[in-house]
Amino acid sequence: MTKRAFNFNAGPAALPLGVLQQAQQEFVDFAGAGMSIMEMSHRSAIYEQVNNDAQALLRELFGIPNNYKVLFLQGGASTQFAMIPMNLLKPDQTASFVMTGSWADKAIKEAKLFGQTSIVASSEADKFNRIPDLSGIELPSNAAYLHVTSNETIEGTQYAAYPETGDVTLIADMSSDILSRPVDVSKFGLIYAGAQKNLGPSGVTIVIVREDLVAQSPKSIPTMLRYDTHISNNSLYNTPPSFSVYLVGLMLKWLKERGGVSATEQYNRDKTKLIYDTIDQSGGFYRGFADPASRSLMNITFRIQTEELESLFVKESEKQGFIGLKGHRSVGGLRASTYNAVPLESCKALAEFMQDFQKRNG
Ligand code: PMP
Repeated sequence: MTKRAFNFNAGPAALPLGVLQQAQQEFVDFAGAGMSIMEMSHRSAIYEQVNNDAQALLRELFGIPNNYKVLFLQGGASTQFAMIPMNLLKPDQTASFVMTGSWADKAIKEAKLFGQTSIVASSEADKFNRIPDLSGIELPSNAAYLHVTSNETIEGTQYAAYPETGDVTLIADMSSDILSRPVDVSKFGLIYAGAQKNLGPSGVTIVIVREDLVAQSPKSIPTMLRYDTHISNNSLYNTPPSFSVYLVGLMLKWLKERGGVSATEQYNRDKTKLIYDTIDQSGGFYRGFADPASRSLMNITFRIQTEELESLFVKESEKQGFIGLKGHRSVGGLRASTYNAVPLESCKALAEFMQDFQKRNG
């Protein structure tokens, strides 16, 4: 039997074994073409089908309305931090942000290169341990959009509900929680996500954008950084990351076979409950970083009393086959990433390991 680690990596992250095995089976000879998908022209009918099938499945599973386009781009979510203001922020407008942590910060810094920005709410005073209360937020009258980071991968916080923005376009970075739960896409003008956590391997970035928003980007934007370039070419303007798009397609098929996004959300809730319950029932041995109301279903961040114990935890967990539990270097502590493809069995094993570790060190 294939030996698989208990993979809690933050991204790139675990992929379903079935997806990897199918890719392995088709690796050398894809669809009887006598070559792998990587060796094939991206203008071939076979690749076009792969591209179109992945788009169609994403539309179906995520409930994307017809007036939205689905794009497969390169450059990671980090390139979207710039592409969004380049395309959507006019000179007399302000790009508004909710400041929730490390990734929101990067998005804001990049937008500043292109125009005016404003932070309408922030949880910085609480070290970003929660999503700020947005019930009464006021947006600048010239706001081009409000940008939210749906799930802060490093701090381990996630929006339980998205803010109401009225006529102002809502934009979300869903890099670390796309397709982990149902979302009303029609509330958003643009959603983007790197694929490498919940949807497949690195190398492809998903952009879901309402058509009318990107009909008229400024003429000065380089061709590759314009949404309309990729829209009018069905994400085939230049050579796409074909192998990554293919794997995203397989991953979407896998998600559909498991019951789609609602079933995935329930599964993700069951998974994370095992670990959050272990934290909450540890009598303070483990301390969750995020405020319970903002806890992420994707990245569980927690601490133990001393850094020595945290190091020991990482060391011992690795010996037992757990990978990726060290917190991000910027915040320390521990983090378990439980994206869509992480099996319940891994979370069960981790909860048991945590309980055992406490018994021995508490
Ligand atoms: N946003 C969030 C929320 C992320 O977690 C990450 C990656 N960890 C990024 C943006 C950056 O993504 P990429 O590496 O694809 O540029």
